[in-house]
Amino acid sequence: MRSLYSLSPRLLAACCNGIFMLLLLLSSPPAAAQPAGDELALSGQWRGLSPAGASPSSAWRPFDPGQRTVLARRPHGAQLQVWPQRDQWPEPPFVLVVRDLGLNSISLHHPDSGDWVQASPLSPSGTGWVGAGRVAYVITQALPAGAKLDLTLPADANFESPPRFELQSMATFQHQQSAWAAFAGASFAVMVAMALIALAFGLFLHDRTFVIYTGYVLSYALVQAIQTGFVAHPLGWDWLAASPQLFGRAAIAASVVLACLFADHFMQLKRYAPGWRRAVLALAVAVSVAAALRFLPGAALDRFSLVVINPLLMLGGPLLLLVAFVAALRGSRYAWFFLIGWVPLLILTVLSSAQSGGALAAWHCLENAGLAAGAFEALVLSLGLADRTLQVRRERDQVRELADIDGLTGVSNHRHIHEQLAVLVNHARHHKRPLALMFIDMDHFKQLNDRHGHPVGDRVLRVSAASMLAQLRGRDLIGRYGGEEFLVAMPDMEQTAALRVAERLRASIATLDMSEFGMRENLTISIGLAVYLGDETIGQLIARADAAMYQAKAQGRNRVVLA
Ligand code: GH3
Ligand code: MG
Ligand code: MG
Repeated sequence: MRSLYSLSPRLLAACCNGIFMLLLLLSSPPAAAQPAGDELALSGQWRGLSPAGASPSSAWRPFDPGQRTVLARRPHGAQLQVWPQRDQWPEPPFVLVVRDLGLNSISLHHPDSGDWVQASPLSPSGTGWVGAGRVAYVITQALPAGAKLDLTLPADANFESPPRFELQSMATFQHQQSAWAAFAGASFAVMVAMALIALAFGLFLHDRTFVIYTGYVLSYALVQAIQTGFVAHPLGWDWLAASPQLFGRAAIAASVVLACLFADHFMQLKRYAPGWRRAVLALAVAVSVAAALRFLPGAALDRFSLVVINPLLMLGGPLLLLVAFVAALRGSRYAWFFLIGWVPLLILTVLSSAQSGGALAAWHCLENAGLAAGAFEALVLSLGLADRTLQVRRERDQVRELADIDGLTGVSNHRHIHEQLAVLVNHARHHKRPLALMFIDMDHFKQLNDRHGHPVGDRVLRVSAASMLAQLRGRDLIGRYGGEEFLVAMPDMEQTAALRVAERLRASIATLDMSEFGMRENLTISIGLAVYLGDETIGQLIARADAAMYQAKAQGRNRVVLA
């Protein structure tokens, strides 16, 4: 995990780019599924419709059905006709596919039944196939050369989403349908999996950021599932598909509000961009209020909220991007993750809006890119969350380490050596293992202070602790018990060996070169050694070692006495 943390941002960006390219690659339909040659290419014409019953209001105008074309179909809808460029219809059965309809519907005067068949990517009816964000009419009737297919786009359309039309063989259609289902399924699986993992982390770590992230990713996935028709097919969630307006708008509002809250927590805006933070939170509040107004009775309120909410949503993406940029420049590590994950999504949103307005008609790849960008963003932000967890843990470890260490000598402090000793005593009792404890007190330390000053006394304490530590095994413990007193615990050590170590320790201090402190006399220590008896408490063990140390003092200091 530590190695993940040391990943440089540049390497991280490279990884993320790799993932994104892979997703884009998966999102483009396989070459084999493309129609062979031009024999299926379509020609088309359209005209605006008049109020019901009246004759068409305008003359036919040609358009290219293979590209997204904005048809000014308001206020009464539009009438369209399409036919093969070569005037020769393919052998039945074949499929007329209508893509990029958004949440709108379309009707075909179906040659099989002679009836008008209405369908939308979210609601099948008659022989219209749905799914993959498209409507597909299967035609089994052989059509004579020169015949045209009649279609109408209704007037009560929501956001205008210029459709495009394709003629496909049954085999191509089925191949594309399953390829899309696999791609969309994988993208949604990534989003949902990332969201659920984050949720589990959030619950275990009691970290709200993860939970907000879960909500954000799930609501974004829901937006995509509605816009691509995934909820209708293959999911078959008819209750949801039946009111795409309600759920779609609620999901969009939720995803923007949660994105704002997530950005705030994740990028630590309070710390890195407090001024901008206010704008982000204001946006979240405004979107919540505008979305809530739609659920209150009253047509005026409803219209007001509709007029207000779209500009707010448009504002959301660029605002978050700007804030992320500012926070990143000011040192927020997580703002970089946010930027990397967010940029493709934002660029796509801009490109898609441009396409709805009639630009970039030939950029068919945008159809699936929203899903890929969503999955990509979920992955990148999950990486960011993992990184965050790691850093929180690091900081906690650092604090804990500092809390355990004696500031002057660098060995364990009183509390920590006591805790550690308790563990060793428990272990020795349960496993009937030996345990040796030394109580060490510096001789005549008050005198040393008086003669050379307390700063020198401090330095001597530090050097002595280091010198004693150097004599011990890795598993032995040493701590400063108080003033100039130390405890040393040696697990699994019998009396004879412990006496040897104690003697070595005493000698190492007695032979320290003290000239650098301006001292001519040697430093000495008195050691009381106690070997654990198997049934005593930790307090009794320390008391015996302490008593032995006093005996060493009484016997003339600079010696080891066994309890
Ligand atoms: P002895 O143990 O040999 O009987 O004599 P002593 O002078 O060491 O006696 P005692 O243990 O009573 O005194 C301990 C002295 O250690 C008192 C205090 O000035 C000094 N001391 C305790 N903690 C520190 C410290 O953190 N820094 C310095 N410089 N001196 C300390
Ligand atoms: Mg002393
Ligand atoms: Mg003392």
